[in-house]
Amino acid sequence: MKRDYYEVLGVSKEAGADELKKAYRKLAMELHPDRNPGNKEAEEKFKEAAEAYSVLSDPEKRRAYDQYGHAGVGGAGGGQQFQFDPNQFADFEDILGSFFGGGLFGDLFGGGGRRRSTGEERGSDLQYNLKLSFRDAIFGKESVELSIPRLEACGTCHGSGCEPGTRPETCPQCRGAGQVAMRQGFFQMLTPCPRCEGKGRIIPKPCRECRGEGRIQRKSKVSFKVPAGVDRGTRLRLQNQGEAGRFGGRTGDLYVVFDVEADPKYERDGLDLHQRLEVSWPLLVTGGTLEVETPYGPDKVKLAAGTPADHVVKLVNAGVPRLQGAGRGDLYLHLRVAVPKSLTGEQRELLEQLRRSLEGEPAGAGEEGFLAKVFGAEKGRKKKRK
Ligand SMILES: [Zn+2]
Ligand SMILES: [Zn+2]
Repeated sequence: MKRDYYEVLGVSKEAGADELKKAYRKLAMELHPDRNPGNKEAEEKFKEAAEAYSVLSDPEKRRAYDQYGHAGVGGAGGGQQFQFDPNQFADFEDILGSFFGGGLFGDLFGGGGRRRSTGEERGSDLQYNLKLSFRDAIFGKESVELSIPRLEACGTCHGSGCEPGTRPETCPQCRGAGQVAMRQGFFQMLTPCPRCEGKGRIIPKPCRECRGEGRIQRKSKVSFKVPAGVDRGTRLRLQNQGEAGRFGGRTGDLYVVFDVEADPKYERDGLDLHQRLEVSWPLLVTGGTLEVETPYGPDKVKLAAGTPADHVVKLVNAGVPRLQGAGRGDLYLHLRVAVPKSLTGEQRELLEQLRRSLEGEPAGAGEEGFLAKVFGAEKGRKKKRK
C-alpha cells in the first residue's frame, strides 16, 4: 500500500506551492543518498518523497491525485493504470506525446481515470488519528466509536447523480470516450473531453439533493475493535469506510492511525517494556523476594544474594502482545539502589557500624558502638544473672 503523498511530505492537504517546496527540500536534504550511503530505507524514502513532490507540485496531477488518489496519477496503488498496453494507444505519436508532455508520470499512462468511459471514481481514503491510553494500546479495546465526516452516497439518487426517473447519457462530444484528440504541433495529444470533464457521460437532470455529485457530506459513526498490541504509528485499515465513490466507483477506505500516551511507570520499546525499580541495598546484599507490578498484575521476583546494583531482571512474556500474532514481549526491570534521604538515629548508627565492619574496623571497638551496646548488654545481662 502506497503512503499518502501529503503524509509522505508531512504537509496538509491545503499546503501551498511554497510549503510543498520547503517540505520536500527539507526531506530531500535529509534523505539524499549522498548523505546516507548504503541506507536502503533512506533511499526508498528519498524516492517516495521525490514521487510525492513530482505529483503534488504539478497542479493538474495534484488535482487528479486529490480526486482519485494514487490511481489518478498512475501510482502503483492504482494497479491497472500502470500496466502498459501498447494496443491501448492509437499510434506511435500518442506514446511519444505522452513521454514528451508527461514526464515521469505520463498523462496518458496514468491519466487520472479520464480514460474510463464510465467516469466512475473511487472514493478517497480517509485518515483519522486516534490517541490511545497506554493500557488500551497493550490490551486492545473491544469497541471504539468515531464520528467521521465524509462523503456518502446520496440517498435520493443512490449515487447516480441523476434526478430520480432520469438516467445519465453518453457524452455527445467524445461519444463516451472521455477524451478528445488535439493536435499540438507535430504531436497528437489526447486531452480530457471538456464537455463531460473526462467522464464520458453527462447528467441531463442533476439530482437536486446532491446537485449531480451523487454524494453528500455527512457525519457518520464508525465503530471498530482495537486489536491488542498496537503501537504509535500503527495503521488500521477499515475497508469501505472512507468516502463514497462517484458514479458507481468503489468506496474508499478509512485508515485509523494510532498514537499512544506515555505511561509514568513503563517505557515501551516495540514489544518490550522497561521499568525502573528502586530496591534497598540490604535486599540486594542478602537476596530475597521483590514484589513487582506488571501490566498483567502483581508478580514476585526472587533476587539472589549479592545481586549487583545495576542488575536487570527480565520477566519473560510480561511485555506487549504481538499485534495479530502469538506471544508477547518481555518486561525488563532495571534495578536501582534506593538511597534514603533521611535516617532515624538508630538507622544511622546501625549503618555506621555496618560500614565500619565492612571496611575492616572491628565492630563495637568503641564504648559507644551500637552493636556493642546491643550485644554487649545482652552478654552483660546474662553474666549478671549468673
Ligand atoms: Zn443525489
Ligand atoms: Zn465527453
